[in-house]
Amino acid sequence: MDHLTILYRGPLASCDYDCPYCPFAKRRDTPEQLRADRAALERFTAWVAGCGHPVSVLFTPWGEGLVRSWYRRALVELSRMTHVERVAIQTNLSHRVDWTGDADLDRLALWATYHPEQVPYDRFLAKCRDLAARGVRYSVGVVGLPEHRPAARRLRRELPAATYLWVNAAEGREYTDEEAAEWTAIDPHFALSRHPHASLGLPCRTGESVVSVDGEGTVRRCHFVPAVLGNLYDGSFRAALRPRGCPLEKCDCHIGYVHLAPLGLYETFAGGVLERIPPGWRGPQGNARRALPITPAR
Ligand code: SF4
Ligand code: SF4
Repeated sequence: MDHLTILYRGPLASCDYDCPYCPFAKRRDTPEQLRADRAALERFTAWVAGCGHPVSVLFTPWGEGLVRSWYRRALVELSRMTHVERVAIQTNLSHRVDWTGDADLDRLALWATYHPEQVPYDRFLAKCRDLAARGVRYSVGVVGLPEHRPAARRLRRELPAATYLWVNAAEGREYTDEEAAEWTAIDPHFALSRHPHASLGLPCRTGESVVSVDGEGTVRRCHFVPAVLGNLYDGSFRAALRPRGCPLEKCDCHIGYVHLAPLGLYETFAGGVLERIPPGWRGPQGNARRALPITPAR
């Protein structure tokens, strides 16, 4: 196999933040659930270590992973495996970032989301600057709600110039052209999330060179299509990998439609597909060489 991209989401479903629109806000996992999440993640990391072909991994936990030592450890371990092209995680960046010092920064990346109502602006900005100073590759984003706009503008002004700031259209929200223009001034790629993408029958790399994996190793093509392709740990998913069209009317989440072939987003985000960094946003100073290409799907 040339290369497999894996979106991993284990049983973890708890978060230290309290975003009003989120079902995982301030949710707690029981000690048993946390033990199960840790065991599942360690099993997954061991599988990647021995899989024998190039892999990229994006962790997309329901809640916040980096407050758990086993996610930090998995990111460090995976980043040091030479057949791992990129390992990234979606995070609210609430935890300190010194653990990145143990990782191979050629492979590690963070997809950070700023939640203005959950964390003081200065504290969040300081985290971003700390990442930049450490040479960690990361993107930062906000949800495009009107009440977030002043903070988003300020963040764009004060982030390191090479750091890409993305804006996600708020789910179900209709934007006037004027509002869209204001968000586009902050994120030149805002238009990508403004409307859901019609996807029915269109070729999508998921199910061929990209898969979603849960804590039991159940493999699906993506997080949004429930049909099971097989299991990671018994290898049964491999026989199911092939080109296929999307069975859903629409795809409205970046971690899905970035793989929808007709959109051409492997070019738009070349070298940073998983962590959502377009080329030209070079990340921390001097690490353009770290913008490794994600092997394109065939
Ligand atoms: S930080 Fe993310 S997971 Fe946590 S409550 Fe907010 S939206 Fe939910
Ligand atoms: S277009 Fe979106 S919903 Fe459809 S298969 Fe691809 S990732 Fe899944």
